[in-house]
Amino acid sequence: MNRVLLPKNLPELWSFLENEPEARVYAGGTDLLVQMRARCADNLVLICLERIAELTGIREDEDGFWIGACTTFRHLLNHPRIREQIPVLAKALSTLGSPPIRNMATIGGNICTASPAGDTLPPLYVLDADLILSTQSGERVVPLSGFITAPGKTQLERGEVLTQIRIKKPEGYRVQHFEKVGQRKALACAIASMAALVKTSPAGVIESARIAWGSVGPTVVVSPDAEAALTGKTLSPAVLEAAADLAGKAMAPIDDIRATAVYRRRVAANLLLRIGT
Ligand SMILES: Cc1cc2nc3c(=O)[nH]c(=O)nc-3n(C[C@H](O)[C@H](O)[C@H](O)COP(=O)(O)OP(=O)(O)OC[C@H]3O[C@@H](n4cnc5c(N)ncnc54)[C@H](O)[C@@H]3O)c2cc1C
Repeated sequence: MNRVLLPKNLPELWSFLENEPEARVYAGGTDLLVQMRARCADNLVLICLERIAELTGIREDEDGFWIGACTTFRHLLNHPRIREQIPVLAKALSTLGSPPIRNMATIGGNICTASPAGDTLPPLYVLDADLILSTQSGERVVPLSGFITAPGKTQLERGEVLTQIRIKKPEGYRVQHFEKVGQRKALACAIASMAALVKTSPAGVIESARIAWGSVGPTVVVSPDAEAALTGKTLSPAVLEAAADLAGKAMAPIDDIRATAVYRRRVAANLLLRIGT
């Protein structure tokens, strides 16, 4: 039988982790508990993070947002400042799972699962999110872009917990776009997804573009060549098509039950053509 520990605060969490170094932490359980059931996992010690107040909530300061790792998607979607300031993330959250899943699933769980199809990952990449990883003895800050090393693999060390996500406001990026292609509109794992932030001058010239794709590589895919091809140009179908060709070259999709690699690459690159629509 599995055993579940329910710390009420961070000191209690550190003490549980010290006494049970093999324990697995979880938040909403929408990934971990599903995987455990599939593997008939038994005799595990689990530590549930959901009652730890320090890990939940959203704080805004001058530069951006601090988001507790165990903040649920529903909480984030109900936050008017998140919807207003970072619609690229809000749009991704609104496509994720279904209302019951969004009530339970957390942003930290989505990051730590490190799925190539994790819907929050492309927006968090283009937003240059930083992660605060904590242990009893201190914390370190790791950029999300270096955190996920392979499907399901992260830089988290034993006993370390993701406590906060830091997002700076994307000042001046008037175009914030997220789009996901799935087999249906709800409860659909991404066949391909794309998040984009584009900053333009008053004359409409692209000064900076940050673009990231999900589900077309072992981790989030970026294309510096596509971003460079957009910079200095005016948004137009021809400019976007040239950038889409370059983006397709950066992708390394796989065939699976949801789609072929060829389809994935084509549809993911073509998502670029929708920027600004
Ligand atoms: C029906 C269904 C539909 C879904 N649809 C989508 C979808 O459309 N898009 C999508 O991206 N995902 C989807 N998911 C997957 C899942 O809901 C998300 O990945 C979710 O964000 C996981 O969050 P959680 O809190 O439930 O994670 P958990 O299951 O609690 O944990 C997931 C992993 O992260 C680790 N972990 C969790 N929190 C922390 C922390 N703070 N520090 C360190 N490690 C931690 C756990 O050890 C575990 O390995 C779906 C799942 C289900 C069951």
